[in-house]
Amino acid sequence: MQVTQVEVLRRCEPIALPTPWRAAWREPAGTPVRALDLTYYRVHTDEGIIGIGPYTGGDPTLALGVDPFYVGAFWQTHMGGRRADTAGKGASGLEIALWDIVGKAVGQPVYKLLGAQTDRLRVYAATSRIMELDAHIRQVQALQAEGFRAVKLRLHRPDPWEDLAVVKAVREAVGEGLTLLVDANQNNASAGYRYWDRRTALQMARELEALGVYFLEEPLPRTDLEGLSAITTAVNLYVAGGEHTPTLFDWREPIRRGAYDILQPDLVMGGNLGIIGARKVAELANAAGKLVVPHVLLAEATLPLTLGPTLHAMATVENCPMVEFPYDPPILTAATTQRCFQQPFVLTPDGTLEVPQEPGLGIALDEETLGEVSVLNRASLTT
Ligand SMILES: [Mg+2]
Repeated sequence: MQVTQVEVLRRCEPIALPTPWRAAWREPAGTPVRALDLTYYRVHTDEGIIGIGPYTGGDPTLALGVDPFYVGAFWQTHMGGRRADTAGKGASGLEIALWDIVGKAVGQPVYKLLGAQTDRLRVYAATSRIMELDAHIRQVQALQAEGFRAVKLRLHRPDPWEDLAVVKAVREAVGEGLTLLVDANQNNASAGYRYWDRRTALQMARELEALGVYFLEEPLPRTDLEGLSAITTAVNLYVAGGEHTPTLFDWREPIRRGAYDILQPDLVMGGNLGIIGARKVAELANAAGKLVVPHVLLAEATLPLTLGPTLHAMATVENCPMVEFPYDPPILTAATTQRCFQQPFVLTPDGTLEVPQEPGLGIALDEETLGEVSVLNRASLTT
């Protein structure tokens, strides 16, 4: 089998959000997002099997002529730690589409081809905004009622003690039954935000530990391995991070230096991990006695194409206690982030998501809802 054509397609009409979205990591000066684009790869083969993947910026010609069953060679050439260009080729969306084709060719879901360990994974609701205290309490209670067993809050206020007051109030409102996670987003660059220094970060970690928070994400920039290690050594709550780590080999020093208890690789954001790389990061973490809770990118209305492959990959490792589910009603919901897909991911009452069971990724666009698409790029094999 051979890839004969790769297309980059975009829905002509961006998906409007019900209200402008002010993500915490863009506060205080960021421009609110009013609509989400939907851009994806469609990969054709000479056998008529078509795979899809999230658009990650990679050149469509990278996959031309590739035998999808040799996805391992594709990964080593374009995404492997030794060869991945430091600027990144953005090939992970193509790797994901190749896996989709492999699964469809043999009639099995990807996670079963990779050696399934489970068919469902616990997820946490990743909220994304800074709101008034009462709004946070109402939202977390609603998420708990929906079945979420774990919810993540953002710490991004000018005064970190105000962040703590919200976490404390939410904890008191929902009791011990809910797992609370917090993300300080200190590796993001947000204009006008006063970033934490090491002393503040350590103090926050201690306060959050006392509130029974499960993990503190990104208390310092990912390059400050010394500072992260000091926090990880000083407190018992888990320190998580690393979503922007670009390649497999870039995980070596954070692991060796003990920067994190929980590694958060993203299959698509850096463009160099994909399904193969995320599993390798999980195994490196396991060998060091650490956990992996992958970051799941939400930049467009393609959530099933980033969350789905993450579930397939993580269903084959033993040290993944949960997966991120970007979900922040009323803005980030199935009606927006998963609108154009046939079967949106829906939380089951036990707080888990089922890994898709159809062959390949088990994810299909709904052509009717998708409507008109424009071709941003099309590369074909010339014979
Ligand atoms: Mg994060």
